[in-house]
Amino acid sequence: MRKFNFSAGPSMLYEEVLRRVQDGLVDYNGTGMSVMEMSHRSKPYEAINADAEALLRELMDIPSDYDVIFVQGGASMQFEAIPLNLSRDGAYPKGDYVITGNFSEKAYKEAVKYGDMVAAASSKDKNFTYIPALSADSFRKDADYVHICYNNTIFGSRFASVPDTGGIPLVADLSSCILGQAVDVRDFSVIYAGAQKNIGPAGVTVVIVKKELANRAHPLCPTMMKWSTQIKEKSLYNTPPAFSTYVATETFKYVKELGGVAAVQKANEKKAGMLYDYIDGTDFYNNPVEKPYRSIMNVTFTSPSKELDEQFAAEAAKVGLVSLKGHRLVGGMRASIYNAMPPAGIEALIAFMKDFERKNG
Ligand SMILES: *Cc1c(COP(=O)(O)O)cnc(C)c1O
Repeated sequence: MRKFNFSAGPSMLYEEVLRRVQDGLVDYNGTGMSVMEMSHRSKPYEAINADAEALLRELMDIPSDYDVIFVQGGASMQFEAIPLNLSRDGAYPKGDYVITGNFSEKAYKEAVKYGDMVAAASSKDKNFTYIPALSADSFRKDADYVHICYNNTIFGSRFASVPDTGGIPLVADLSSCILGQAVDVRDFSVIYAGAQKNIGPAGVTVVIVKKELANRAHPLCPTMMKWSTQIKEKSLYNTPPAFSTYVATETFKYVKELGGVAAVQKANEKKAGMLYDYIDGTDFYNNPVEKPYRSIMNVTFTSPSKELDEQFAAEAAKVGLVSLKGHRLVGGMRASIYNAMPPAGIEALIAFMKDFERKNG
């Protein structure tokens, strides 16, 4: 029996997608081989690769003046790729970073090696339980880009709106909310996301980059990190993570069948709303994030004590609600409820929370 997996990533995939992949696992579409064994220069794989881009463009309404590539290295490799791809006339760039959690801090620390970087704003003073107020004045007028992490996977917070950068290109890590909530791609110059939260298995990373910024790589940028390398080769410069991209393509098809991102967002808001309403209605559990900034993808909560937190995660796992232990930086619990978490998982979690409160409250 499948469990309700609340892991922050890798996380649940749609069961229907897994079944479709299973159907084609040994013999994909009559080719006599699996996608894992196929030449990436073959017609069937080229079709999968082309579908991946076309479907993502459709789902996110990506305008034609943006390139879309599928690369390896995870979101973490983009932390370095960003400064290396956004140089200024061959010089290292100036980047302004908004620090709202662990991943934006990591992105900043990598970038510092490659240019004139500043932490323009931070919410570290209150353990990342809010998003700092930002305006065009928050950033250096001559910055080459502003970097944000739109949904903070570990701390369970998110931007309530896209900040005004005063025209400076905005680069955003959407790893844990891509396809889970609608964004207007035109608000961003670069969007990147590892697959293993809302898209598919780990191994493939999506980069969406405005064409006018696609050819600004620093001369020392490794060929494999250069966005233009994969743009020119339609993500097939070298052997791609074919199986991950294939599962991602099947997920894109399925999200489209579900009604697209708007429909999925509505379902996600409902799921998160149920959980937050329950947490807010009891004194036993607490969520520390300021309400306007609460993530609909990662819901953190604590019980009255560390001991009870431990007991909660252990007992929940025994009844099929797994990976609820919070990140070591935050403690408590975290329920990651990405697109593929069914409403039944939320209902089961709330029922367990009530029962646990009754026994230990
Ligand atoms: C998971 C995650 C990452 C790290 O992704 P990798 O693909 O493991 O490098 C970075 N940023 C955010 C927001 C994430 O959720």
